[in-house]
Amino acid sequence: MRTPRIALPLCLVLLPLAVEAAQPVELPAVRLIATGGTISSRPGGRLTAAELVALVPALDRHVRAETEQFSNLPSSELTVTAWLALARRVNRLLDERPALSGIVVTSGTDTLEEVAYFLHLTVRHTRPVVVVGAMRPPGTLGYDGAANLLHAFRVAAAPASVGRGVLVVLNAEIHSARDVTKANAQGLDAFGSREYGRLGVVGHDRVLYYGRTDRRHTWRSEFDVSAIDRLPRVDVLLAYQGAPGDLIVAAAARGAAGVVVAASGAGSMSPSQLDATRLVLRRGVAVVVASRTGGGRVVPRPGTGPRKRRLPAPPRRVMGEDLSPVKARVLLMLALTHTREQAEIQRMFQEY
Ligand code: GLU
Repeated sequence: MRTPRIALPLCLVLLPLAVEAAQPVELPAVRLIATGGTISSRPGGRLTAAELVALVPALDRHVRAETEQFSNLPSSELTVTAWLALARRVNRLLDERPALSGIVVTSGTDTLEEVAYFLHLTVRHTRPVVVVGAMRPPGTLGYDGAANLLHAFRVAAAPASVGRGVLVVLNAEIHSARDVTKANAQGLDAFGSREYGRLGVVGHDRVLYYGRTDRRHTWRSEFDVSAIDRLPRVDVLLAYQGAPGDLIVAAAARGAAGVVVAASGAGSMSPSQLDATRLVLRRGVAVVVASRTGGGRVVPRPGTGPRKRRLPAPPRRVMGEDLSPVKARVLLMLALTHTREQAEIQRMFQEY
């Protein structure tokens, strides 16, 4: 059969296009910053960030993974100074690398929610930062670290994750750093978002969201830690029957600029603690009342609002809204870098 005369020139035109179409699409770059935790805690020696990535099957089908070792510690050994350094590192990376799609941070799970919430309030970008851990260490039957890491990388690379604040990924679930808490000492499903539920899931087909938090975070946060090298001390004290207030006074005497009371119910504490909070408030210490129940809000009781109060008003406690006591501590530490005014701190607890 005769080839039509047009075929050869057309082939020459189409060939470069076909070659171009065959080029692989560039995968999103995601940086892993490893801090330690069970996910890397192999008996006989901790896994490095690079070794962790090597455990994840077919990761290079989803992302171009980069690695960086920040620390290699249990989360209980991370300090507030480390939080500051980590937040600055994440911000600098996102500032300097506009093409980086997102960042994954590994953490021990025990106090993961604290460092994750700190990043939620201090990372100043919309690109995803995903905190991940594991409940079972490498080398044990049912090690969940490799799957959790793969999921975290996929969430960090997903366009749908942009602008949702810092996310926590374990057990194929996506949580907001604001609401997530470790609620089981052993189970693979140890993490939950209390009464709010998870934001989304990591399916085998795609990363899928059902919701987002409405409260201020990351790109809408007023907290800038770029020039801060220490945070004020804030202690958490638990309310229980017969709890002595002298521990609150002792915290203030040891230099706490703020105290969070993990109060019972919607804000009650022992009479001794009540007296102690009045005392430390008069000494200029900020007091936040959060609930130890794990749900609901702590708010001013009806009739105790500013209009009905006689003047001059005594220094008042800040109501911790629905933040858990450890999250209230994180917000109060940041709040105290700006102000000591009760009304201003209360505003922050209403907005974040
Ligand atoms: N689950 C512990 C933590 O939260 C990890 C223990 C370890 O790193 O060996 O950090």
